[in-house]
Amino acid sequence: MSDTYNAALLVGAPLTPNRAVVFNAEKCNGCNKCIDYCRVDALMPNPVKGKPPILAYPDECWFAGCCAAACPTPGAVVMELPINQRAAWKRKETGEFFRVGLDAHPEPSPLPKSS
Ligand code: SF4
Ligand code: SF4
Repeated sequence: MSDTYNAALLVGAPLTPNRAVVFNAEKCNGCNKCIDYCRVDALMPNPVKGKPPILAYPDECWFAGCCAAACPTPGAVVMELPINQRAAWKRKETGEFFRVGLDAHPEPSPLPKSS
């Protein structure tokens, strides 16, 4: 099998402004744990061992941040969410911030009482 054939195995989608997952090559050790947590297989291992994964299919990303939450290395991967995904709310009593989809979300609001 020729090297040319091997080099064509990974053909990612073209990068678009929708690029929410950003790796820090200074901190990422290429363990690829984040790839295991991506349910839509948007991430691919870097062919260079020890380098950050590749966001091969950015338009498939659901922005839930499972990859960033699973990463054991602080700062190795961060989410830079598009503006329409930054909706959040603040709990008045405690000042806590929440966003849909992250594991810090609050308990669902109780249903309104019927009169
Ligand atoms: S971002 Fe984190 S989990 Fe993913 S390869 Fe780098 S160190 Fe491993
Ligand atoms: S945010 Fe979710 S869908 Fe997007 S790359 Fe990370 S794990 Fe995959």
